[in-house]
Amino acid sequence: MFAPKVVHRGILWMQVIIRNNMLSLYVHIPFCVKKCPYCGFYSTPYAIDSADEFIAALRSEAEGYKTEFIDHLFHTVYIGGGTPTALNTRQLGEVLTTVRSCFEISEDAEFTVEANPNTITREHLDVLREKGANRLSLGVQSFSNEVLSTLGRLHTSEEAEQAFYLARSAGFQNIGMDLMYGIPGQTMAQWEDALKTSLVCRPEHVSVYSLSLDDGSLFYQLFEAGNFECPDDDRAAEMYECAISILQGSGYRRYEISNLSLPGFECRHNRNYWDRGEYLGLGPAAWSFISQRRHYNIADTAEYARRIAKGVSPIADSELPGPAQASRETLLLSLRTVEGLDLQQYRNEYGDLFLEQLERNMAPLVSEGLLEVHEGRATLTQRGILLSNEALVRLST
Ligand code: SF4
Repeated sequence: MFAPKVVHRGILWMQVIIRNNMLSLYVHIPFCVKKCPYCGFYSTPYAIDSADEFIAALRSEAEGYKTEFIDHLFHTVYIGGGTPTALNTRQLGEVLTTVRSCFEISEDAEFTVEANPNTITREHLDVLREKGANRLSLGVQSFSNEVLSTLGRLHTSEEAEQAFYLARSAGFQNIGMDLMYGIPGQTMAQWEDALKTSLVCRPEHVSVYSLSLDDGSLFYQLFEAGNFECPDDDRAAEMYECAISILQGSGYRRYEISNLSLPGFECRHNRNYWDRGEYLGLGPAAWSFISQRRHYNIADTAEYARRIAKGVSPIADSELPGPAQASRETLLLSLRTVEGLDLQQYRNEYGDLFLEQLERNMAPLVSEGLLEVHEGRATLTQRGILLSNEALVRLST
């Protein structure tokens, strides 16, 4: 098949330089069976022909990066979306083959694929295992059928459990489960039940997310029109604390505000994002951060495929963050983790003036008990985590 070389118009990389030698690959699969009303991620309804077009374009895009990345080893791969398992097994296999044939993936790489309980089959799982995926991220959200229906999810609680055990029986020893709280009508009993059911499954990783009103989602539109009511902040904080207490009581360690894992199963791919590490993103709407420059692809699958077929770059825009933006990003990302911000490293990277400004911003938060500094690291306190949005805004302005 003719595969045009993709021109990286607007970006001139003489040489790819990876700052801390940690490089990740993200592939955005832009298809879902149906749009969930809370979701702001870019996706479009699955159709076999448009998925084939997308896969051909993805292959060309990946091939266009081959030379630039020939000397670079990828330590994590994340196939996300969208719903990767909305693709049929042949298509999913082609995506993984493309990744493996175009890039050097380290032997011990973490290789994650996102899956939804309603689309996953044993055949999908076998293809994923065969092509070297070793981690599955399962979008469960809830084990209450009532809550799942509010969220517009296409699976039941029973199907979510079945999907989990199917993945286990297919050989996945590293499974992450996403759960959501702060949903209209969701009771504390339903939330506790979701957490306890997840403990029976015992995935290696659990993410607990508060429902957010993403721009562009149906829930956001309803909210703007005054027809949507979320639980208040106190209620959401209570649900968050309940989750942390139940999960920590069962051996999970919180390593980031919303993420907990059994020892040794932190998500290395996301860890790289929080460390402000570099990553190459492929597919429509995918972001990349390479050689300290950030760019993103056009969020339109048909246009993405058209551009690539014509040999035109799918990159919509790019930026080179200056020191002010870079230091702000480092601060906001690292304070989400339990290790927090290494102040000496921050000073080495951004200089005395930035550190002095940060220390001025930190002082009132420390006296209010939202932040603490211990052995040269700044971390959010438990109260700071509950008020993290406010704390992080105050710190970074
Ligand atoms: S939440 Fe997941 S399944 Fe639902 S629309 Fe968004 S990407 Fe698709």
